[in-house]
Amino acid sequence: MLLPDTKRILLKLSGEVLMGEQEFGIDAEFVAGLAEEVKAAHDTGLEICLVIGGGNIFRGISGAAKGLDRTTADYMGMMATVMNALAMQNALENAGVETRVQSAIPMPAVCEPYIRRRAERHLEKGRIVIFAAGTGNPFFTTDTGAALRAAEMNCDALLKGTSVDGVYDKDPKKADDAVRFETISYSQVLSANLKVMDAAAVALCRENDIPIVVFSIREKGNVKRVLAGEGVQTIVR
Ligand code: UDP
Repeated sequence: MLLPDTKRILLKLSGEVLMGEQEFGIDAEFVAGLAEEVKAAHDTGLEICLVIGGGNIFRGISGAAKGLDRTTADYMGMMATVMNALAMQNALENAGVETRVQSAIPMPAVCEPYIRRRAERHLEKGRIVIFAAGTGNPFFTTDTGAALRAAEMNCDALLKGTSVDGVYDKDPKKADDAVRFETISYSQVLSANLKVMDAAAVALCRENDIPIVVFSIREKGNVKRVLAGEGVQTIVR
C-alpha cells in the first residue's frame, strides 16, 4: 500500500478529465471508464469522497476575461461542477455503486445539500459521496474545495488525478530534462510555486497533515495501482 492505514480518501479530478479526447464538455464513454476505475478502488474496501472540477464546461477566470462579473462567472463555474458531479453519479450508479451528490450551494431538487454528518453516514454505508460546487464561494477553486472537504471528512489522503504523472521541477510537456519528485514537502511546493494545486489547497493540506498524491488519471487502472503502491506518482507531505 502506498500510504499505510489509508481507509478514506478524497479523489479530486479536474473537469478536463471528463472531456476524454473531446475539446469541451463531457464524454459519456470516458466517464463510464473513470467510474469503473473509481469502483475498482472502492471494491477494495476504501471509503471514497469525490470532488470534480468544472473546467471542461466553465471557468470563472475565463468568463471574467470576456467581461462577465467575476463573482457571477465563478457561480457559473460552480454550476458546471454540479453538472459534472451528476454525470459521474450517473456513471457510478450504472457501474453498480451507490452514490450521493452533496452540493455546497443547496439545490434540493437536484441533489442533497452539503451536510457533513450526513456525508459521514453515507460513507459508513459504503456509498461514494460526490461533493459538488466546490467551497460554495466565488474566488476559490475546486482544488481548495477538495482540500477543505478532505479535512472536514478526515480523509487520510487527497489523490489528485491529472494529466501528468506527478510533480516535476519544470513543465514536463515543455522540457525533456524535467525530473519528477518521488516525494516533496508542502513548503517546497509553495516556495517554488510548483503547479500542483493552488496555494490555498496546499496550505490547507499542510495544516491538516493530509498527504497529496499527484498521479495520472489518463492511464487505465491507475487509481487502484497508485493506491496499492505499484504506480507512478509524487507524494506531497
Ligand atoms: N469555483 C468557485 N469556487 C469554488 C470552486 C470553484 O468559484 O469553491 C468556480 C471557479 O470559477 C472555477 C470553476 O468553478 O473556475 C471550476 O472549478 P475549477 O476551475 O477548480 O475546475 P477544474 O480546474 O478542477 O476543472
